[in-house]
Amino acid sequence: MPSVLRSSGTGSSEIEIIVVGCGFAGLACAIESKRKGHKVIVLEKRPSLESLGACALKQSATGLMAICTQHEFMYMHNFDGELLATQPLPQRLYGSNSYNGRRGEIHDVLLQYAKKLGADVRFNQNVETYWEDAERGRAGVIVNGERMEADVVVGADGARSRAREIVLGYEDKPIPSGYAIYRAWFNSREQGLDTDPLTSFFCKKGGEFYAWIGKDVHMLAMSFRDGEEMCWVLTHKDEHDIGESWSYPGKISDVLTYVKDWDPCCSALIRKAPFCVDWKLVQRDPLPTWVSKGGYTIVIGDAAHPFLPSWQSTSTSMQGASQGVEDGVTIATVLDLASKKNIPLATRTFEHIRYDRVRRAQALGESNRNRMHKDPESRDEDVSMPFPEWLLDFDAEKHARNLYDKVSGDILLSGYMRPSELAS
Ligand SMILES: Cc1cc2nc3c(=O)[nH]c(=O)nc-3n(C[C@H](O)[C@H](O)[C@H](O)COP(=O)(O)OP(=O)(O)OC[C@H]3O[C@@H](n4cnc5c(N)ncnc54)[C@H](O)[C@@H]3O)c2cc1C
Repeated sequence: MPSVLRSSGTGSSEIEIIVVGCGFAGLACAIESKRKGHKVIVLEKRPSLESLGACALKQSATGLMAICTQHEFMYMHNFDGELLATQPLPQRLYGSNSYNGRRGEIHDVLLQYAKKLGADVRFNQNVETYWEDAERGRAGVIVNGERMEADVVVGADGARSRAREIVLGYEDKPIPSGYAIYRAWFNSREQGLDTDPLTSFFCKKGGEFYAWIGKDVHMLAMSFRDGEEMCWVLTHKDEHDIGESWSYPGKISDVLTYVKDWDPCCSALIRKAPFCVDWKLVQRDPLPTWVSKGGYTIVIGDAAHPFLPSWQSTSTSMQGASQGVEDGVTIATVLDLASKKNIPLATRTFEHIRYDRVRRAQALGESNRNRMHKDPESRDEDVSMPFPEWLLDFDAEKHARNLYDKVSGDILLSGYMRPSELAS
C-alpha cells in the first residue's frame, strides 16, 4: 500500500508535496510551502548536510548576516598582480541583500527554519524511481523500497537530477563542461597566513574579496570573519571524464601549476591550504521543459537549469543558489494560488513565469565568462562584475502573484505550450 503523505504542519491548503533534494532550491520550496499551508516531505539522499566552500546569495531576505561576511570591495587583478579594478560590493543593492558565507552554515539556517515550520525532512533517502498517474492526479517516488505519493513531486535533486527523466521522457546525461575547479577553505592563522609577508594582507581586513584573471584560468580568494577563515577557488580548463565521480581530493601541487607565472601571493595562498577538492563541472543544454507530461512532477533549481559556479557560467552575478531559491518560492506560491484541484495548471504556470528570467540570468553569466576568459592582451577594459537592477530588484512571490492570473489564464485559453516552443 502506498504510504500517504503526512506532515506535522497545521496549514490549510492541504496540497501534498514531495520535494526530492535538500539543496537551496528544495529547502526554499519546503519553507515557502509550509508558510502557505502545504504539507511537505523533503527526501535527501545524503546522511546530513555537509558542504565545503563558500556561497554567495543575493536575496531580498534578511537575517543571514549573523553568519555571513560583508565583503566591501572586490579587488580585480590581472594574473600578474596588476590591479585592474576596485569594485564596491554594497551589502544592499536594489533591495537585495548580498550574503557571503560558508555554504554549509547558510544551508543549515534554511534547514533549521524548514524544520521549525514543520517540514518533514528525511535524510538517507535516495530516490530511485519517479512515477505519475495523471488520471488519479497523483505523482510519487519509490525510495528505500517504499512507494510514496503526493499531489505533486518537486525534483530539486541538482545538476545530476533523476527527476529530469520523468519530466523529459528520456534520460538526459550530464556532459563535462570542459572546466573544473579546485577549492579550499581553512583557518587562516592555524595555517600561518598572518605570518607570511605574501599572505598576511588577507588577514588584516574584516573580509575581502580578491580575484586574479588569466586566459581560461581564474582564481578567487575570500577572507571571512575578520580574516579568521580563508577560502580560495581556482577555475581551470579540464578535459577529464565525469562519468563516475565529479568531486575528488585535489593535489595542491597540481593547483600550483596553474599559477606558476602569476602574482606570487596566489601560489603562497594555495600552499597554505591543508587540502583541497577537485570539482569537475558538468553542464546541460537548456531543457525543453521543466514539467512532466501529466503536470504532476516538475524540476526546479539546478535540476531544471544548472548554474555553474560564479565566474564559470552565471557569473559574476552568483545566481545558482539564488535562482533555485526563487524557483522554490515561485512554485509554492503558484500552488497556493491554483489550489489542490489545479496542480498541472500550477506547474505549467510556474514554468512560464520562471523560464525567461532564468535563461536571462544564465545568458548574463555566459557573456561575463566570455569577457573574463579572454586573453589578457585582448581583454575589454571593464572587468567589474555587473549587478543589473532587473536581476536584483526582484521579489519572487510578488512577481508570481502579479503574473499568475494572466499566465494561467493564457494557458487555459490557448492551451499549454512550453516556453521553449513559444520562443522558437
Ligand atoms: C563548486 C560550485 C560553487 C558554486 N558557488 C556558487 C555561489 O557562490 N553562489 C551561487 O549562487 N551559486 C553557486 N554555485 C551554484 C549553486 O551551488 C547551485 O546552483 C545551487 O546549489 C543549486 O541548488 P539546488 O538546490 O538546485 O541543487 P543542489 O544544491 O545540488 O541540491 C540537490 C540535492 O539533491 C540531493 N539529491 C540528488 N539526487 C537525489 C536523489 N536521487 N534522492 C534524494 N536526494 C537527491 C543532493 O544530495 C543534494 O543535496 C556553485 C556551484 C558549484 C558546483
